[in-house]
Amino acid sequence: MKTAVFSARRYDQTLLTEANRCAGHELVFIQDRLTAETAPLARGCPAVCVFVNDCVDADVLQLLADQGTRLVATRSTGYNHIDAVAAGRLGMAVVRVTDYSPHSVAEFAVGLLLAVNRKIARASMRTREGNFELEGLMGFDLHGKTVGVIGTGKIGGIFARIMRGFGCTVLGHDRHPSEAFEQMGGQYVPVRELLARSDVISLHCPLTEETHHIVDAESLSHVKRGAILVNTSRGGLVDTEATVQALKSGQLGGLAIDVYEQEASLFFQDLSSTIITDDLIQRLVSFPNVIVTGHQAFFTVEAIGQIMATTVDSITAFERGQPLDHRVPAA
Ligand code: NAD
Repeated sequence: MKTAVFSARRYDQTLLTEANRCAGHELVFIQDRLTAETAPLARGCPAVCVFVNDCVDADVLQLLADQGTRLVATRSTGYNHIDAVAAGRLGMAVVRVTDYSPHSVAEFAVGLLLAVNRKIARASMRTREGNFELEGLMGFDLHGKTVGVIGTGKIGGIFARIMRGFGCTVLGHDRHPSEAFEQMGGQYVPVRELLARSDVISLHCPLTEETHHIVDAESLSHVKRGAILVNTSRGGLVDTEATVQALKSGQLGGLAIDVYEQEASLFFQDLSSTIITDDLIQRLVSFPNVIVTGHQAFFTVEAIGQIMATTVDSITAFERGQPLDHRVPAA
């Protein structure tokens, strides 16, 4: 099936082409993000394949539907960038990648936590300059500390298990508590208690209307003073302006983020030779107790392989009129 693949980086092209070898879909790789301006590039493609920062709102879906697109396949677990209700109204199917190495993201979250707590990136920058001074690099033991996990699904559950291995007390908050979380020693508590007791808070719930800015000035006022916040889930979970204020006041002791609310105009691009006009991200990266990465938590050989294979399988199933295992509900 002819498929327009938006936001296609070199690795997308190589790995999706490989995964498609047997299926033989006609893939049209487009480096640009999908927007109302770039949607015409998908003319004649019954399927489009998108990524997390593509704009798949009602207007763009209407443009795609008018051109004959009937399937939107996102190379991600999260689908908050797609108006699934509008797609359903237009008779379009939306598929995602429900299962791919959740270890990739959970392990990265642990890495970010260690990096910000033990100042690993700062230390590395120092030694490159011949500076072996330890002043300013002190962290704290994770052993014996309390870690709060918001969203104890696949990724949050693995993150929690790793933190148990470090010797941490693990608290959880989830609208659908899981037995597995409690069996590995986690304890569900109300979100307010989680915020107040945790030395580290890690976000692993999806971005929905309910979770938008789940971390804002109000919730930050309940956080244990000096706690570290880790967000590998979605930028919109966090009111970034409020975190800047909390970092300035010392209410937050550190921030480690792989996602950022305004990431669409920044991430997955080399902007090192341009003037970045987003003052908020510039402010954040200037803090010594903040680490920012560009949405790379999923980026492992295992995860990408699974993402590409599932995407190709979904396109094939759609073409054959078979049930779609990874369909996003329209409501
Ligand atoms: P999952 O569905 O297995 O788990 C999500 C959990 O969040 C579920 O247990 C759900 O009940 C819970 N939840 C939903 N609404 C909630 C709420 N209001 N309050 C508390 N908990 C709530 O999903 P997953 O595979 O663990 O992925 C979690 C998120 O991680 C995804 O939605 C995506 O946004 C993000 N993600 C990021 C990357 C990355 O590269 N940075 C990669 C993959 C996924």
